[in-house]
Amino acid sequence: MKTQVKALVIGGGAVGTSIAYHLGKRGWDTMLIERDELTSGSTWHAAGLLPLFNMSYATTHIHKYSVDFYKGLEDETGLNAGFAVVGNLRMAQTDERMDEYKLYASTAETCGVPYVFMTPDEIKQKWPLIRTDDLKGALYHDTDGYINPADVTMAMAKGARQLGVAIERRWQADSFEWTGTHWDVTCTKMVEKGGNLVASDEQVVIQAEHVVTASGNHAQRTARMLGIKIPAIPVEHQFVVLEKDPALMKYRATGNPEHPVIRDADSQSYVREERGGWILGVYEIGAPARFEHGVPESFRADLFPLALERIEEQYMAMIHRVPSCEESGLKDDFNGPICYTPDGNPLVGPAPGLRNMWLAEGFSFGITAAGGTGLLHGANDGGWGGRD
Ligand SMILES: Cc1cc2nc3c(=O)[nH]c(=O)nc-3n(C[C@H](O)[C@H](O)[C@H](O)COP(=O)(O)OP(=O)(O)OC[C@H]3O[C@@H](n4cnc5c(N)ncnc54)[C@H](O)[C@@H]3O)c2cc1C
Repeated sequence: MKTQVKALVIGGGAVGTSIAYHLGKRGWDTMLIERDELTSGSTWHAAGLLPLFNMSYATTHIHKYSVDFYKGLEDETGLNAGFAVVGNLRMAQTDERMDEYKLYASTAETCGVPYVFMTPDEIKQKWPLIRTDDLKGALYHDTDGYINPADVTMAMAKGARQLGVAIERRWQADSFEWTGTHWDVTCTKMVEKGGNLVASDEQVVIQAEHVVTASGNHAQRTARMLGIKIPAIPVEHQFVVLEKDPALMKYRATGNPEHPVIRDADSQSYVREERGGWILGVYEIGAPARFEHGVPESFRADLFPLALERIEEQYMAMIHRVPSCEESGLKDDFNGPICYTPDGNPLVGPAPGLRNMWLAEGFSFGITAAGGTGLLHGANDGGWGGRD
């Protein structure tokens, strides 16, 4: 294991892996350390949606870069990340919601994101399983869709290794000390004990000119080690997978293409196809916070129990929107931690008051943002890395 690098990235989720890839691309001597396995944080259980829609110019640029970058990863690495470019249909039940989309259109045009507006009739004609009688219209992006979060992370990791980046698993960063010229990062070898991941006696100090933290749900621990505040707390986020929907299967069997990701912003939900059935994901208001004081050692790539009663309203709204799914039973469920900041935007950039320490924390759309966040850190022309 190297003990001296130009850049050390902490965390092997989608975000850290992309940063390591882009720093490697920039030609920096880079190492990534991950306390467990790559993708073992929030990344492994994400639904993989890559929505281009965002009201912020900066975030739209980040998301657009990711969507374009992921499309080229297979050519570069030989690994298929399962990017289904099915498009994204964002529906509006009110005039106010349509106004919001019209305002967004200026962001999309400035950032070069293609979009079209659709009337309820146009939606019905194209996707007859979607109920449209209460809609004002929708915004449609045909260039995004969904990806396999673990596969895209592994593809970026392979790309990073091809660029000379070292990736070390089962090493946990435990302290950071600025020496005046570089950071001394004390790392501990993590070992399995009774299903838990525990610290061993083996330690190593890595000298790194720059450190980037992408520690996901461990942001509060990272903040304590750095002596700063990182306002990012995980909350529970749930999606359910439904059994096959005969109407959907019939629709697809006659040669129709897969439905776009269906976003019902007024019902705080998203729906996409999954092997002849549907996935329903919900943005709960008042979702319980988790890990305010740190992630317990017993929590690794785990999930929380499904709390179906909390998403009943959105579930009913989904049945209203796609009535053919009413008879489909529940096949699977995911309730995992997803990091949120107060304004929903990630914390990306220099750590306050700390030299050569960079944060990439608090991602609630981390699969969508990972590619572009990597570019910000590693770009030759204008990213943080632009300042040698
Ligand atoms: C149910 C669910 C569905 C989701 N769906 C979507 C979606 O459709 N689209 C989307 O864009 N996002 C989605 N998300 C959000 C997405 O999963 C996260 O935003 C993203 O995975 C965050 O990636 P990350 O790399 O920042 O964090 P993580 O994936 O959590 O990775 C952080 C890594 O850092 C490691 N680590 C922490 N501290 C240390 C340390 N001190 N030393 C070494 N390693 C350390 C951890 O072990 C972990 O592997 C979803 C989330 C959930 C819960």
